[in-house]
Parts: sequence; C-alpha cells; structure tokens
Amino acid sequence: MINMVFLGPPGAGKGTQSAYIIEDYGLVQISTGDILRAAVKAGTELGKEAKVYMDGGQLVPDELIVGMMKERLKQDDCKNGVIFDGFPRTIAQAEALDKMLNEDLKTEVTHIISLDVADELLVERAVGRRSCPECGKVYHIKYNPPKTGGVCDADGATLIHRDDDQEDTIKNRLKVYHETTSLLKGYYNESGKFHEIDGEGDPKDVYKKIKGILG
Ligand code: ADP
Ligand code: AMP
Repeated sequence: MINMVFLGPPGAGKGTQSAYIIEDYGLVQISTGDILRAAVKAGTELGKEAKVYMDGGQLVPDELIVGMMKERLKQDDCKNGVIFDGFPRTIAQAEALDKMLNEDLKTEVTHIISLDVADELLVERAVGRRSCPECGKVYHIKYNPPKTGGVCDADGATLIHRDDDQEDTIKNRLKVYHETTSLLKGYYNESGKFHEIDGEGDPKDVYKKIKGILG
C-alpha cells in the first residue's frame, strides 16, 4: 500500500501530479489547502479562523490542521492509500501524522516525494494559476490553459485567481516554505523513503520520475 507525502513549495505541481497518480494508483488525495478553502467557502468556524492566516500567506496553526486531518483520516476511503498534498508543513504536523498513521490506522508513510522548482518559476506558476471553484481542477494561463477562455473544461464554472496567488502573498508563502516547511526534508531524509525530484520540466516528464519511484 502507498501512503505518500507530497512535499514542495506552493506552485511546485503537487495538485497537478496528484491528478495523474490518482488515475494510475487509485489513491485518495487529501489536500489540506482544498479542505480549508471548502471550509472558508462554507463559512464554518474553522474556515473563519483559517482565512486570516491563508489571506496573509501564513500557516494555519498546527492544532487546527492536525484536528482536521484526524477527522479526515477516519473516513473509509483512506484505507487504500493516501497522497498527503500540502500536509505536513511543520515538524509538529509530521510527528502528528506518524502518530495518527501508526496508532489509529496501523500503517505508515511509505514514500516522501519532494518537488524542486526555482522561486522565479513558482511565482510565475502561481500568478498564472486559475482554479475551478466547483471541482478544484487547476489550469495555467500559459502552461495549461482551459479549452474555452476562463471556464473549467469539466463543469463550465468560471475560473478564479486565488487571493493567495497574487504576487505579494505568494512571496510570503515562499518565505514560509523556505523557513519552515523545507525543514521537513531533514526530518524525512533519514527514513530511506525520501526522494527529491526536479519539478521544472513538462508535467508528463515529471510524472515519469514519480512513477519510477512509486513503481
Ligand atoms: P501545487 O499544488 O504544488 O501548489 P499546482 O499543481 O496547482 O501546484 O501547479 C501550480 C501551477 O503551475 C498551476 O497553474 C499548474 O497548471 C502549473 N503547473 C504545474 N506543473 C507544471 C509544470 N510541470 N510545468 C508548467 N506548469 C505547471
Ligand atoms: P495550499 O493550497 O496547499 O497552497 O494551501 C493554501 C493555504 O492554506 C496555505 O498558504 C496555508 O495558509 C493553508 N494551509 C494548507 N495546508 C496547511 C498546513 N498543512 N499547515 C498549515 N497551513 C496550511
């Protein structure tokens, strides 16, 4: 069984690659960013609390994220293997994940794949990213445009440019990644399950490298 942690800065291509992995390996993708955005949209207490941090490009506090993940992992679809996308982002979250998987699900993280992309390219990717507010599908105005301008190929919804994908906020998010989240490479490096790959090429070429790792 595969339980994969997808590491990498915002805009590295984790969501894009997750879509390919899901098709071939039948895993479920758990994106903490997607869960939080759904909570903000629904106006829940969690959403209201998280929004302030998200708008500023800061991390949402660990207690909220870990509590949210604990609930998510109770669902049956996690039993066949999971892609953790955008989680963990701190050492405390990584420790909590190990504990939840070991104690509650009697399993463990099997692969850690980190996508490496230069900051200038990440800014360009985020600034050009367009997302479907209905199904979450992700496009890029230059690298992966929708068939018809501004609307989702899958459901025809008008695509949005996320508030936190504006240039100023994305720069904050990259700073937070370099200062905090990138430390997870050290946390996982010793495990023998850690793989760092170049995420700058064509999405299909990046995916070939991921398949080489997942087998
Ligand atoms: P993440 O989930 O890591 O934040 P996404 O998968 O949403 O990243 O990708 C960020 C943006 O970059 C999207 O607009 C996506 O279409 C685009 N993108 C993803 N991978 C590539 C790639 N290999 N080359 C060019 N653009 C890409
Ligand atoms: P993402 O969609 O993964 O880029 O996440 C968007 C935003 O949600 C981040 O900038 C954070 O504010 C918040 N967020 C998502 N996942 C986490 C996490 N694991 N820990 C803390 N904050 C998170």
